[in-house]
Amino acid sequence: MTGVAANVARVRERIAAAARRSGRRPEEITLVAVTKAVDPARIHEAVASGVTDLGENRVQEAVPKVAALAAAWDATGSPRVRWHMVGHLQRNKVRQALSIFTVIHSLDSAPLAASLNRQIVAQVSPQRRPLDVLVQVNVASEPQKFGVSPDALPALLRQIVELPGLRVVGLMTIAPLVDNPEKARPIFHRLRLLRDQLSRLRVGESLTQLSMGMSDDFEVAVEEGATMVRIGRAIFGEHPP
Ligand SMILES: *Cc1c(COP(=O)(O)O)cnc(C)c1O
Repeated sequence: MTGVAANVARVRERIAAAARRSGRRPEEITLVAVTKAVDPARIHEAVASGVTDLGENRVQEAVPKVAALAAAWDATGSPRVRWHMVGHLQRNKVRQALSIFTVIHSLDSAPLAASLNRQIVAQVSPQRRPLDVLVQVNVASEPQKFGVSPDALPALLRQIVELPGLRVVGLMTIAPLVDNPEKARPIFHRLRLLRDQLSRLRVGESLTQLSMGMSDDFEVAVEEGATMVRIGRAIFGEHPP
């Protein structure tokens, strides 16, 4: 087994253990392997070990990488992978982003939602519409962080659900950097409560997904209800500076 494959196996075991601790089934949680700064050969190792969902945080980096992998896979019989956009999306990158990503985790403003919707209607084939999106929430209201504040979330959701090109499937957050993952627990718990409250209000009919948890805190996130964990370093090792 390669290092990447062994890491994927270990991460899956840890997700499963965290799920069972909280009375959940491991299959409820999608592992999104975040491949920023990772070369195509190592991404391929992750896919060969069963990873089906890959995440990137920058459109410029993702476009050539996704193309290189798609070309290699086309030659050998494509594994089915889905690319998730997990980083901040600039409006001038929307067109390119739509050519590769099937899920956007980082929708955080009405203008971005409008740009996405406009491009989807113009560019994305009807069979692939609507596009699944998650709204990024800045739960702790950290000034340096992207994401809508919890207070502004209901109004933004009401705007997004009017757009035919988008389907809001859940919420995403990035927890503050902390020395102990337990300190991130209240953030994850709060995102889950927001999701539950908004589901009761029926804003966004299918608010089922919670994208939360990274290499240092994914077990706590799973215990708090994560349905998608975004993991880079625990699979691919520390990235180069
Ligand atoms: C890089 C990144 C991750 C993965 O982080 P690790 O700490 O390497 O697991 C998850 N989410 C986003 C938005 C990222 O940019």
